[in-house]
Amino acid sequence: MPLDEIQTELGRERRALTEQVAALNARYRHHSAHDVMHGALEDAGEIALVSSFGAESVVLLHMAAVIDKSIPVLFVDTQMLFTETLVYQQEVSERLGLRNVRVIRAEEEDLQRDDPYGALRLRDPDACCVLRKTIPLQRALAGYDGWITGRKRFQSGTRAALEFFEVEDGTGRIKVNPLAHWAPEDVRVYMEENRLPRHPLVARGYPSIGCAPCTSPVKEGEDPRAGRWRDQNKEECGIHFVNGKMVRAGEKE
Ligand code: SF4
Repeated sequence: MPLDEIQTELGRERRALTEQVAALNARYRHHSAHDVMHGALEDAGEIALVSSFGAESVVLLHMAAVIDKSIPVLFVDTQMLFTETLVYQQEVSERLGLRNVRVIRAEEEDLQRDDPYGALRLRDPDACCVLRKTIPLQRALAGYDGWITGRKRFQSGTRAALEFFEVEDGTGRIKVNPLAHWAPEDVRVYMEENRLPRHPLVARGYPSIGCAPCTSPVKEGEDPRAGRWRDQNKEECGIHFVNGKMVRAGEKE
């Protein structure tokens, strides 16, 4: 097919996807997180849930388990995670009865080539996140029409206008954010009402949990995400893109 026809076709697909996402946002505007997740599974094609099994992940995982225990759950193991996270992932999956959890890792060949000593994070944390998170996840998402995330508006400036449904730049997939409008209090209440187990590091001062070398405890009054890439001018992990590109150090939008 000639290039101009390919571009026309891609433009048509992109417009159709944008219209589908706008229609989904209009339909679910006043609905609950549970309805949004249910609607995504019904109306948005093949969908996976991506979870870090971090500080608040159990909310979304519980919601998914109530709807369908066989939903594909993708867990990206960067091989830099806290041992507590690996243990928590297994305990929560078992307790909620999730039957389709897939552990995603970077290809050994890629690690040997680009980060043989595990030190890439020190000189280029963005490249490390791309190697250990973004590329493995994008590979795992091939064949899916969309994915569910636990992102919320209150978490950072780059998420302040988050909608329930978004078009993911550059992939033609839909991103679903059922908890977009939730406040920290909503998360706390949901966990308590459903007696969900908390990640053990929360009680030790980690309200947001990523890789062990890039996560530190936060002090009273600090932003909950202040312990992520502390002093590195970096907010996002590379899994999530802003305005069509990864948020790199020094250019937070
Ligand atoms: Fe690498 Fe840190 Fe990103 Fe983990 S959070 S992938 S260790 S830079």
